[in-house]
Amino acid sequence: MALIKICPNCNQRNRAEVRECERCGTSLLMTETMDAPAIAPPKLSVNHQPLYVPLRVELVIGRTDRETGWAPDIDLSPFGASSTNGVSRRHVRLIWNGEWQIEDLNSANGTYLNHRRLTPGEPLPLSPGSVIQVGKLFIVYHG
Ligand SMILES: [Zn+2]
Repeated sequence: MALIKICPNCNQRNRAEVRECERCGTSLLMTETMDAPAIAPPKLSVNHQPLYVPLRVELVIGRTDRETGWAPDIDLSPFGASSTNGVSRRHVRLIWNGEWQIEDLNSANGTYLNHRRLTPGEPLPLSPGSVIQVGKLFIVYHG
């Protein structure tokens, strides 16, 4: 069991050792630590290279905005993501709901799960071996 602190402001699940909510910055010093249902970061790869994935219950996949410096939780910029090859800044997200699910964020070019286009706002579960197409990039979910 992982120990977590749930933010009283935004319900983000934070690791027990953080002092401030990783999403909204609310102080967690007075928040109780609790056991979480086992959550592990999803194992993902692009072009056979593992992606770095932080431990969060919601993971936005996209690319860095060069003008503002904003970066998604999972940044595809190092893999050549750009508007030219169809990757939006906030393209798609993974949500932990006891299992990992995927939801398109109304991206310009859409997201395909195993060659089927996702409907924005309708999350679908991932299973090991799922292939996620984001623009011209292919992400494999390994579990
Ligand atoms: Zn928060």
